Parts: sequence; structure tokens; C-alpha cells
Amino acid sequence: MKILVTGGAGYIGSHVVKQLLDKKNDIVIVDNLSTGFQKTINTLKKYALTKKVKLSFYKVDLSDSKKLEAVFAKEKVAGVIHFAASIVVSESVRDPLKYYENNTSNTINLLKACLKYNVNKFIFSSTAAVYGDLEPRYLPAKEDGPVHPMSPYGQSKLFNEKIIQDVAFVNPKFKYVILRYFNAVGASVDGLLGQSTANATHLIKIALETTLGKRKKMFINGTDYNTPDGTCIRDYIHVDDLASAHIKSLSYLNKNKGGVFNCGYSKGFSVREVIDMMKKVSDNDFKVEITKRREGDPTAVVSNNTKIISEMGWQPKYDLKIICETALAWERKI
Ligand code: UDP
Repeated sequence: MKILVTGGAGYIGSHVVKQLLDKKNDIVIVDNLSTGFQKTINTLKKYALTKKVKLSFYKVDLSDSKKLEAVFAKEKVAGVIHFAASIVVSESVRDPLKYYENNTSNTINLLKACLKYNVNKFIFSSTAAVYGDLEPRYLPAKEDGPVHPMSPYGQSKLFNEKIIQDVAFVNPKFKYVILRYFNAVGASVDGLLGQSTANATHLIKIALETTLGKRKKMFINGTDYNTPDGTCIRDYIHVDDLASAHIKSLSYLNKNKGGVFNCGYSKGFSVREVIDMMKKVSDNDFKVEITKRREGDPTAVVSNNTKIISEMGWQPKYDLKIICETALAWERKI
């Protein structure tokens, strides 16, 4: 199949493109390179050559419907995987319109192009941020349980989910998978790809920078949460396992109309546990201090992943140790 991937120059998008190339799909990447990298496109182009499949890249912003539709007219793709989005929660609080514009409005542009050019398979990157701070009785989070986004970022993604479902409802041929990502981390096991995003605020990235001496110390944002060690709990998923969920989603759409699926390990780790694992794999007891809570952090976010396992046959392969090892190898490389 020929698949159009928006945001293919970014972190998760690039790992998915690599797996699609492994499966001999031709790829069309649309990315405005606002947070993605030309270097990543170059790496993927070389990789496509080794797999003897085609990869084309268009530097297009999804707000530019004219250019976007020109890509659809030229490439005749069979499906779309839509990653391109703004993803910084704190920024979304400061600048909500950026998020409703870049995430919600631009997804509408993309859907319009799909309908116009008869592209009827759509896979969408959603997020565990749609759940917000769930009461313990709703954890691990289930797809049909309550959703309470705590930021314009989470809300912009939840709007998209509804829009996609409404489009599917009135277009009998249109099929969709909405994947709610939990905490995507790690780097490709073969060392080809990883996270290069500048100024990352994520726990594992900061722990990496600290263990490699780019930072003198790191901080734990709050130790007074109602959890066993007082620090927040998250469900960390290796980016290659997350990528394989997209491959499974494409097959799923051959026989199904669509659905919403959590992508996580159904297993939570505390901030302290993650830092301890990073210390262990890097063999470095780096300096960690405690600071106050970070505003807007939910106590615990853990997936129930039963649905994706039973309905798609998805099986994760990795764990927190491999997450930290692959991320460390990548950080050393860059
Ligand atoms: N965190 C921390 N110190 C850091 C970065 C993150 O204690 O330097 C905490 C953060 O407050 C949250 C957890 O680690 O409780 C996971 O944060 P991250 O930003 O990685 O992911 P999120 O779940 O917020 O998207």
C-alpha cells in the first residue's frame, strides 16, 4: 500500500514509517518540519532504498489546504496516518488557539482532503491526556470510561476523536483507528532513530541529559502524591511497540469499521522507579533533588490495554529496562 504519514519527520512518526517500510509499503511524508527534522527524512530515505520501496517527502503545513490537496491528487494514497500536531501540554495552556488551530482545524483540513480523494483508511494519534486526572476507581483507564482533558492539548485531541467518528458515521466507506498513546519513550532497538526534540521536558529525556552530564542535576516534581512512593505514576511504552500498534491498526481496518484503542503496557512506574532504572542502566548515581509539584500533573495515568490485545492481536515486546537502554544509546549517539 501507499500510505501518507503526516508528521513522519517527528519522533513517533519516524518510527512508524520505518516499520511501514519494513512491510514494503510506499510512503508519502507530509511534514512542515516545525519540530521534525530533515535529517530524519534523510535517514528514512536511505532506509527505504535498502528496502527497495519508495519514500517521498513534501514540506507542507496542514493549514495549507491547496498544497495538501495537491499531494493527495498526485500520490493516490490508500490510507493516512496522522501524527502532525503540537504536543506540549504547558504551551497549550498558554496558547490554546495554537492547539485548536494546529491540531483540531488542521485535522479537519486533512479529513476534507481524504473525503475528496476517496482515502478511506485513517489512523489518528490521540493521547492519554484525554483521560485527565482519573479517580482511582477508573484506573487502569478504559477506552469507554470517563474522559476529562485537563489542557487545551488534551481537549484538541478529544475534539479530533469526535470529529473523526462523526465523519465515519456518515461516510460508510470511511474507516478509522484512534490510538490513545500513553507515555511514548525509548529509541529504535537498532539505533537508527530516536528522540531529537529540543528542550524536551519529559522525565526520561531529562534523566538521560542528567546521567550524560548535560545537566548537573534533575528534579522530582513532587513526592506528596497519593502513590506508594509519593511520586506520579505513568505507563511508559517503547516507541517501537507503539509503532507496531499502527501496523496492526492497518490490518484491523481491512475487516473493521473502526474504534478507539489504548496503547500502553497496563503497567505503571513511579518517577522514582524510572530514575532508579536510568541510574542502573547508565551505572551512574546522578544527583536528584525534590521540588514542588508540576502544575497540571495527574497522579497516575495507566492504561487498560485489553482491547488492543484482544481485538488486534497486538503484543508489546519491550520493558522499562530496554526503554532506558535504547534511549541512552540514542542520547549518546546524538
Ligand atoms: N517529571 C519529574 N522531573 C522531570 C520531568 C518529569 O519529576 O524533570 C515527572 C512529571 O512531573 C510527571 C512524570 O515525571 O509526574 C512524567 O512526566 P513526563 O513529562 O515525562 O510525561 P507526562 O505524563 O507529563 O506527559
